[in-house]
Amino acid sequence: MTGFPRPPYQWPAPYKAAAVVTIDIDGESPMAWHNRGRPVPLLSELEQRRFGPRVGVWRVLDLLDAFGAKASFFVPGMIADAHPALMPAIAARGHDIGLHGWHHEKVDELDRAQNVAVLDRCIALYQRQLGRRPAGYRSPSWEITPEFHALLLERGFACDASLQSFDHPYGFSGLVEIPGQWLVEDTIYFRFTGGPRDRTHPANPDAVLASWIEEFEGLREFGGLFTLTIHPWVSGRAQRIRLLRKLFSHIRAATDVWWTTAEELARWHVNSPNAEIHKLDIELLDTRGVVGPKL
Ligand SMILES: [Zn+2]
Repeated sequence: MTGFPRPPYQWPAPYKAAAVVTIDIDGESPMAWHNRGRPVPLLSELEQRRFGPRVGVWRVLDLLDAFGAKASFFVPGMIADAHPALMPAIAARGHDIGLHGWHHEKVDELDRAQNVAVLDRCIALYQRQLGRRPAGYRSPSWEITPEFHALLLERGFACDASLQSFDHPYGFSGLVEIPGQWLVEDTIYFRFTGGPRDRTHPANPDAVLASWIEEFEGLREFGGLFTLTIHPWVSGRAQRIRLLRKLFSHIRAATDVWWTTAEELARWHVNSPNAEIHKLDIELLDTRGVVGPKL
């Protein structure tokens, strides 16, 4: 690949690309964060979001089973705590489970002590429900700071799935990053809560399926990682389960694509030649030399 500073990512033979399905069981947790300290007297969005852990996730689990596929789930602590059978059921079906905040907190809006308290509360719940420590993490809203990244390393996490520096796994200051992208994420197409934020109707699932397959085929061509991100309160609805069934059929038919999980990708990365080649260190944007009117 003339002009590229790094050789292509290497996948285990016979694969030439990879795919991972990631499922964030947010439920109503973002509402808890956005309304923190205030009572929420409205039921509409609350109940719409509760459809996720109540119905949607079970449909997604059955669909994955039908394809014999494993996925990576990320569960906020308050959802796992309210549904104590949820994480054990997901683990029993052989899927990865990573952390995703307690109340879906934005890590940049908490100080270090608060972030430590939230993370340790999540780890303790995970250990109580699953009898082991979590290896994977995805930050709420995909926002993360160098301080929080260092905290994940201190707590022994193996991988994070919040950033998008490449479209294949890579080392990022000591953690393996499993990158996603907004293009293959469901809420940007389908979220409609009836409030003032959502002004257009949800997208046609056939158009979204075509767009996602186009990205899948592009990444297959470039030897990358296709990371789908879905939320059961959005993608657990009937027509989107049918969309996912068509997408999964397409992925399954691509026998040169490794359909795997985030934790399996992280294990592959650190034990392959990629570990020495595909890595970055955190480098903050230095704005000191940028001239302009004072903010
Ligand atoms: Zn989330």
